[in-house]
Order: sequence, then C-alpha cells, then structure tokens
Amino acid sequence: MTTTHASSAGRITLVGAGPGDPELLTVKAVRAIRAATVLLVDDLVNDAVLRYTRKSARIVHVGKRGGCTSTPQAFIEKLMAAEALKGERVVRLKGGDPFVFGRGGEEADHLRALGLQVDVVNGITSGLAAATALGVPLTHREHAHGVIFVTGHARGHTGSDSAALHWPTLAAAAAQGLTLVIYMGVSTVESVQQGLLAGLGADTPVAVVQHASLPQQRQACCTLRELVATIAREGLGSPAIIIVGDVVRGAMSLAQQELPARVA
Ligand code: SAH
Repeated sequence: MTTTHASSAGRITLVGAGPGDPELLTVKAVRAIRAATVLLVDDLVNDAVLRYTRKSARIVHVGKRGGCTSTPQAFIEKLMAAEALKGERVVRLKGGDPFVFGRGGEEADHLRALGLQVDVVNGITSGLAAATALGVPLTHREHAHGVIFVTGHARGHTGSDSAALHWPTLAAAAAQGLTLVIYMGVSTVESVQQGLLAGLGADTPVAVVQHASLPQQRQACCTLRELVATIAREGLGSPAIIIVGDVVRGAMSLAQQELPARVA
C-alpha cells in the first residue's frame, strides 16, 4: 500500500538552503526549488533564495519569525503529506543542511512512514559557514584532530534533552584537540561556559558568529573566560554559532584588526 502512495504522489524534497547567502545554494537545491509547486520555508531561510521559485508556486512560511510561535511540527508534516498526495512537488526549505539539527530527520521519518518518497538535498551547514567567515579551518592539522557539532539548546529536540549534555566531557574532548561547533548556544551560554571551564583552560580561544554569510554578519573572538561577557557586550544573539578550540587562535589576530576594543 505504501508503494501506491509513492508512485502516485508528488515528491517531497528536503532542501538545505545553506546559511543565508543565496550563492551558497547547491545546483541541486536550485533545481529542486525551480521544480517545486509548493514550498514550506523555515524562518532561517533567506528570502533571497526564493528568487528561484516559479511564479505559480505556493510559498508557506512555517518558521517562528520575530519570536512568534512557530507552526507546530505536526501541522507542517501533515501539510507536506497532503500536498504531496495531491500530486504537488513539495519542497521543504530548511536553513543550512536539512540533517544537521533542525528536525530534517524527524520529518523524513514521518513522511516515509506514510509511504511517501522523500529526497534530501544537502546544504552548507551554518557551522561550516561560520568557520569560513572567520577564516578558521575547523580541523587544522596543527590544532585539531576532529570536530564535534553539538547543540547548546536544552529543548527543541524531541527525545533528547541537551540539558543532559555533559559539558565537562565535551570540554575534555576539546582539550584533546576536538574543535567544538555549538549550534543554538547563545541563550544557554552561561551554562555552556561554566561546563566547559570544568575541563578547558580559561584562555581557550572562542569565536561567536551571528548571521554567518549574510550582509549583517557579526562576529567576535575572545577567550572562554570572557564568552558570556563578550556576547552581552557585543549584543550578539541568535542565530549564532560558537566555535571553541585552538583553531580559533588564527582568527584572533584578524578579529583584533576588525574589532580592536573587543578582543582580549
Ligand atoms: N540545519 C541548520 C541548523 C538549524 S538549528 C544548519 O545546518 O545550519 C538553528 C541554529 O543554527 C541557530 O540557532 C544557529 O545556531 C545556527 N544558524 C543557522 N543559520 C545561521 C547563520 N546564518 N549564522 C549563524 N548561525 C546560524
């Protein structure tokens, strides 16, 4: 019975819209956006990306812009399924990469359980864009053996509570040369800083990048000890990526030139 749905229904494609700069879309993403008849668009997706939509396409914004309540996840999934079953070509545009946080996995599972065909198109995840914005090679051979992508948000991930994340353990990993790339970490930065200080030196370099790849991009570099104070002083807020580790050291001198009064 599921095959009946799959063959008669339009496709659903989860498309990564990248970190913001429309030039960072993949060719595949542009092709999927052009082909879509219905698009469900997350709030972290830059509207400039919508220039590739057909005039006749129906565009539904499902994010939580300006702190408004976001469209419930169940509604989004229902709408995608209903439109696909009507034969529409549905594209779900998600910020960054669909499978790096942001619930792409849940959506794909749900839709596939309904017998629908789901394709996924990679996007450049904001953690990578933030590093590039600073000129930081996340796995620079002299400083890092690898990289950990982690969420700082206590809620928002069904089935996992990152309050349960043990930051001192992550600090220990970072101390061994694993760069930490923290998503959704600004609102919980006090506990992130406190937890990391349990296993990392207070002088560990840290960078914060808000709106990576967009004209309004802002960034600051500081030490772990100063992370909370720097974010407050700079007025940095979501969406932002926090990068922790020695790889940030190289960006310090650059940041020093750009933000003379702000860098320790
Ligand atoms: N799927 C997305 C992540 C969604 S979770 C991706 O791959 O990038 C939302 C978090 O992503 C935000 O809280 C922020 O931490 C990060 N984020 C998204 N876009 C960003 C941007 N342009 N600059 C900095 N951080 C961003």
